[in-house]
Amino acid sequence: MSAAKNGSVFERECRECPRLATFLDDVNDRYPDYYCRPVPPFGAADARFLIVGLAPGMHGANRTGRPFTGDHAGILLYQMLHKYDFATRDHSEAADDGLQLVDCRITNAVKCLPPDNKPVGAEINTCNSFLANELMTLPKDAIVMALGGIAHRAIIKAMGFRQVEFKFAHAALHDLEQFKMLDSYHCSRYNTNTRRLTEEMFDAIFAKARELLDN
Ligand code: URA
Repeated sequence: MSAAKNGSVFERECRECPRLATFLDDVNDRYPDYYCRPVPPFGAADARFLIVGLAPGMHGANRTGRPFTGDHAGILLYQMLHKYDFATRDHSEAADDGLQLVDCRITNAVKCLPPDNKPVGAEINTCNSFLANELMTLPKDAIVMALGGIAHRAIIKAMGFRQVEFKFAHAALHDLEQFKMLDSYHCSRYNTNTRRLTEEMFDAIFAKARELLDN
């Protein structure tokens, strides 16, 4: 089943995944002030640098309505975006905090908050048409950063490639013909606390992305 209609990259009213739609309703009952909807991509549609995360976090994007905004997962991400001139500020608090992305856009493989941060395969697949539409309209020479294996595989699927030919590996660069995809471990609290992803490692990924875009 495909969720995206007419080439859309996002639909605020989408309820194609019954488990996610019900979960969002439940979370909204518990937290009436939270955004609790599919979270739209952030940044200009013609940006050359696209970052693809997994899905909104409960008290971050699902609360504020902007990817990686308001929770731990965004801390290192926005620091790096600012350091490499992709963002006007080094921290992201709220959708109306004035922060702007520069030649950069952030989206998620799954637009709705999943229980336990784990979307099931059917949900990733249903949401994949939005991602496919977004990838199709990237400008020439774009760089796509996949944050984690789920985002990586969602991008491969959206582009119609075989998963076995493009394996996820931290810092791997894949030529997907229409753009290059740079893999990174996800900047989740778990990965940064366990030092699977260190600041130095993430910095090196951003340095690579900047170099690729500038040359
Ligand atoms: N917030 C997001 O928007 N995406 C993630 O993958 C994690 C947190």
